Amino acid sequence: MLNQPRASLTGDNFLIQNREVPARTTDRRVVATIHAMATPFRIDGKTALITGGASGIGEQTSRIFTEAGAKVIIVDIDKSRAEALAAELPGATYKIFDITDENAVREGMADIEQLDILINNAGIGLVGNAEETGADDFDRIFRVNVRGVYLMTKFCLPLIRAAHGSIVNLGSVAGLVGVKRRFAYCGTKGAVVAMTRQLAVDYPTEIRVNCIAPGTVDTPFVSGYLEKYHSHEKDKVRAELNQRQPVGRLGKPDEIGYLALYLCSDQAAFVNGGVFPIDGGWTAA
Ligand code: NAD
Repeated sequence: MLNQPRASLTGDNFLIQNREVPARTTDRRVVATIHAMATPFRIDGKTALITGGASGIGEQTSRIFTEAGAKVIIVDIDKSRAEALAAELPGATYKIFDITDENAVREGMADIEQLDILINNAGIGLVGNAEETGADDFDRIFRVNVRGVYLMTKFCLPLIRAAHGSIVNLGSVAGLVGVKRRFAYCGTKGAVVAMTRQLAVDYPTEIRVNCIAPGTVDTPFVSGYLEKYHSHEKDKVRAELNQRQPVGRLGKPDEIGYLALYLCSDQAAFVNGGVFPIDGGWTAA
């Protein structure tokens, strides 16, 4: 989609869907309108806040949303990555705060005047069955993956409602089926699925809220997991992760970002309260 035909200026002519039209006969606003009408999944003029927008799925979503016409606000705790990415993306800005800290979220949101899209993407993982899971680790993952989604949603809702906008939450297949030794992680993603459906019920005519449930996607989240838990057998475990998904490979972060783009576009106007696996067939098996 990044290479799809577009309306653009080429020398003295406009290129509209690969056909050259003399610029002097074509008003720029007409071109913009033709462009928007002819190209699906555009989010021109929208402002999109993406938590965890500096890495992995969030980073690719930031890139895709910028390309699709949005102004992106990257929220992350990783300042160097957020700063570098925002400098690369036209119109993008960044804010550094922890989504689990209520005061930080309130202050971080204070100067944002327009918001059409919230992507609740920031999240962390944890390996362990119920007996192996420590109470502090359990609390920590719920703080980020559940409380973080709650706080961001709460403080963004007035703006999103005013804009008749859209929220996309990053769940996981782990919120839909049991995944071995992911007791707490499955619990948090089950909560994300439930919060998505609940929000869709509270504001059905004002906003749309949907959830994406990816299988394993090749991001720093997965390389970090391999490094932490399987540093001496990374290739073997990576091959097992590939085989867990019937398609035989990991997902790519942009494959998730494009689904997020569709869900936030006007073409998805009838899509609300949905939970969408994108997992190479994992949960179909
Ligand atoms: P990632 O680790 O590559 O990126 C997560 C980003 O979130 C990082 O930039 C990190 O700094 C930021 N972050 C973490 N805690 C934060 C906090 N408290 N406040 C603000 N920012 C914070 O992860 P990813 O793989 O891109 O995953 C993104 C989302 O997708 C997560 O919710 C994850 O659970 C979900 N998901 C990932 C996979 C996968 O296999 N990668 C599969 C299913 C679901």
